[in-house]
Amino acid sequence: RYVLGIETSCDDTGAAIVDNQGNVLGEALYSQLAKHNETGGIIPTVAKELHIQHVESVVRDTLSAAQMQLQDLDAVAVTVKPGLVMSLRVGLQHAQKLALSVGQQLIPIHHMEAHALTARMIDKIDFPFMVLLASGGHCLLAVARDIDDFLLLGSSQDSAPGEAFDKTARELNLFTLSDFNGLSGGAAIEKLAKEGNPSAFPLVHIMPSRATCHFSFSGLKTSARNLIKKEYQRLGTPTSELLPNAADICAWFQYNLMYHIGRKLQRGFIFAEMKNLLSTNKTLVVSGGVASNAYIRANLIHVASLYGYKVVCPPTKLCTDNGIMIAWNGMEKLLSGRNYFHDANTLDVSARCPLGTDISSDVG
Ligand code: ATP
Ligand code: FE
Repeated sequence: RYVLGIETSCDDTGAAIVDNQGNVLGEALYSQLAKHNETGGIIPTVAKELHIQHVESVVRDTLSAAQMQLQDLDAVAVTVKPGLVMSLRVGLQHAQKLALSVGQQLIPIHHMEAHALTARMIDKIDFPFMVLLASGGHCLLAVARDIDDFLLLGSSQDSAPGEAFDKTARELNLFTLSDFNGLSGGAAIEKLAKEGNPSAFPLVHIMPSRATCHFSFSGLKTSARNLIKKEYQRLGTPTSELLPNAADICAWFQYNLMYHIGRKLQRGFIFAEMKNLLSTNKTLVVSGGVASNAYIRANLIHVASLYGYKVVCPPTKLCTDNGIMIAWNGMEKLLSGRNYFHDANTLDVSARCPLGTDISSDVG
């Protein structure tokens, strides 16, 4: 059986066809990253235009890579929430056009559920398992109990870790270096941090008094901004140039972010144990763009091992946005035997949609 997935929730136009074994038969991805790096962030109308320009060719390339026609597909799955409404609409409208042309219904997909379940495509992971998603727009910790059944233990109360990486990278002028061409803010910071000292500056205390699984990144973002400003003044570096100690700031920032996530993860492990939320076979899936950071991954794997968890991280390409995860989520829904199809004509998108049942107030 074959499912085509279409993803346009943010700044990547992605499509893929997967089979019921999780083999990827065809895929294509157009990334808007370079454009958004130029403008200093995502401008929704620009993202929408770029999706409009590319969605058709991305889907066409996917079908031809798989040597398939629309008629060969068992279903078309499309991201409908959460995300930028203008971006989501482009993907949905294209999916609607395709589905209507062959008289099919669509499978609507929740972007974060798809991020959470991608790991099941590459590894045999049974429900229930714990999942940490750290990306450009989210940070959340949940227990996945079924393909459409999640318990939300905690989520970011303000900004997202990827966004904090991107902002800090821009304030550090990292993109003025050609070495970082084509990299995201997170990937650029990770690269430079390798040469830096994480304890060159004091630890930032994030939500120290709150015994929850919630996350917060605004305080760290502000601390980084203030530190960078101070260092420009102290060292007399022109503000358009790179600070001589930028590597230390990157290492410090990355360490602080990892430390905060690690602490919240520990709390999640303790809570899951207390409430008996997992089976004896304890698995933690770590995904989302920030999870492609090798330093953060390695440290979280270490923390998880102390609590007896096996950690599964999808490869980088599957951690960031892509069409494969949408196609796979559609496939899981198709294989469940339950009816997840929706009339293509009446399907709509939504900007916000929390993941699963929120039990965060029980934590702590
Ligand atoms: P969401 O899924 O929450 O809607 P998104 O889809 O935009 O957000 P992803 O594509 O999962 O987010 O991830 C993009 C983010 O990941 C960017 O903010 C980027 O800086 C960050 N990122 C990518 N690589 C790394 C890395 N090596 N280290 C840290 N962050 C990274
Ligand atoms: Fe995403």
